Amino acid sequence: MPEIITGLKLSEGIGFGSIFISKRTDIEASDREIDADQIEEEISAYKESIQEAHIQLRKLRENVGEHLDEDSAAIFDAHIMMLDDPGFNEHIINSINNFNNAEKAIRLAGEVYITKFESLDSEYMKARALDVKDICMRLVANVQGVQLTDLTHVDEPVVVVADELTPSASAQLDSKYIKGIITAAGGMTSHSAIIARSLNIPAISGVPDILSKVTHGEDIIIDGFEGDIVLSPTEVEMAAYSEKQKAQEEREEKLKDLIGKETKTLDGINIGLYANIKGPEDLNDVSSNDAEGIGLYRTEFLYMNRMNLPSEEEQFEAYKAVLSDMDDKPVIIRTLDIGGDKELSYLNLPKESNPFLGERSIRFLLKNEEIFKTQLRALIRASEHGNLKVMFPMVTTIDEFNRAKALLIEEKEKYEAEIGKELSEIAAGIMVETPSAAMISDQLAKHVDFFSIGSNDLIQYTMAADRLNEQVSDLYQTYHPSVLGLIKKVIDSGRNNNKWVGICGEMACDHKSIALLTGFGIDELSVSPKKILGIREYISEIKKTDMEQLSESVLSCDSAEDVLYLIEEHLNLT
Ligand code: PEP
Ligand code: MG
Repeated sequence: MPEIITGLKLSEGIGFGSIFISKRTDIEASDREIDADQIEEEISAYKESIQEAHIQLRKLRENVGEHLDEDSAAIFDAHIMMLDDPGFNEHIINSINNFNNAEKAIRLAGEVYITKFESLDSEYMKARALDVKDICMRLVANVQGVQLTDLTHVDEPVVVVADELTPSASAQLDSKYIKGIITAAGGMTSHSAIIARSLNIPAISGVPDILSKVTHGEDIIIDGFEGDIVLSPTEVEMAAYSEKQKAQEEREEKLKDLIGKETKTLDGINIGLYANIKGPEDLNDVSSNDAEGIGLYRTEFLYMNRMNLPSEEEQFEAYKAVLSDMDDKPVIIRTLDIGGDKELSYLNLPKESNPFLGERSIRFLLKNEEIFKTQLRALIRASEHGNLKVMFPMVTTIDEFNRAKALLIEEKEKYEAEIGKELSEIAAGIMVETPSAAMISDQLAKHVDFFSIGSNDLIQYTMAADRLNEQVSDLYQTYHPSVLGLIKKVIDSGRNNNKWVGICGEMACDHKSIALLTGFGIDELSVSPKKILGIREYISEIKKTDMEQLSESVLSCDSAEDVLYLIEEHLNLT
């Protein structure tokens, strides 16, 4: 009897194959006692294991760099750095000097680091505990002379099922044979999720007892659109999911007809359709989906997955890669947006009881001018290679914008003096993601060059509902009249002051909100690259004048439910 299990959707798509159970190679570190005269021997066994790990990891990094993006390959840089971490090494050597054998010393040090990472609030840092487990397992295996199992020998379509997939196991994934990934644990920021998405492999997590439910070799279907797993599917189910996969492929193929076309409503109004990216590794998707620009480059990813701040040169190279690839199309690069849920552990910032209301984003940058100036300088240098616009996140007051812009101008003038020539002006705008910025958008519009509405945050701050807290998710209401009223106010302020207004939060992907935003008169939508063509199609089917009537009427609704009802009625969705 087939069984359907539902989990958390991490990566879209449908995959068929047989189950490949990837158990953690249960390498046990021995507890054997050692005498004082064995200490030297154990220390050299440990040192050799480190050297071997260096060679193995460099090789893995090379392989991965060839068929995956830089983000995935960078996982191994983080592992290599961990191998060289003086604190970690000292911990192990001290432990061996205290009569623990090398394997046990590695395990004990690993436990200390894992507990430290797991106790941190951020999902991202919790996921780093997995990196430590991975490294320690490799080191113990090296001391024992044991080969770790790998997925590179798979030569038939499989769906990998695991408790959790280590970064090195994930990096061996090849979409030719790996048709899906199911893990008991791991969230959107786990490395297996990052890699699965970059390879277009469907992935589902959050199925705690998955390993007890499946058998190696059993047939399986994974549906990453719905988060469904079908074990031992019947022929009827196989046929139904094949149909769904085929329909999806056909739809994607058909949408390609829209490449090179303008994004225009039925009554001829153009709306810019840009892409959100996290780095140069997304550029292929940007061009294959015909983005008209970059509406949001989230630079904080450049600062993550590492142990120190990126240098000016490193940042310059990343920004230049994006700008030159986009030719003269607009590229909006957002300055570092850390704080809230995005932590940088190596900065050792004090813990805050309300991090989303704390020293995040522009507040952090204005207090840490050296970090800010390094980024601004890299941006200014890169501006020579394309059409750069700089965007400051989480602005609440006009003073914040003016101080940030003054630093941009100061750094630009310094650089111009160094190189002995003037650069073109760099447009500077803000993300409108606080109710304060929205309320004073008319005044702000006199200072900024553009607005981009960060609806993900604007909703949480307007509704006073943490965007990550499931307990208040019912209050995180995209369609609440208060949120929509603020959005309309920002768009009106832009229009009245001849400044364009875009939106780069998740709201820009949803057809119902696109209908409203079109009615309000939005100039640009910035979305994940893979959503672009579907949205271009949708916009080509609606009329702005028609949506204007709808947008006007939702503002006097009492609740989000009433708004949704009106939209659905207007769009004939009921
Ligand atoms: C937003 O808040 O809408 C936004 C796009 O920024 P982020 O999701 O990175 O906070
Ligand atoms: Mg935001």
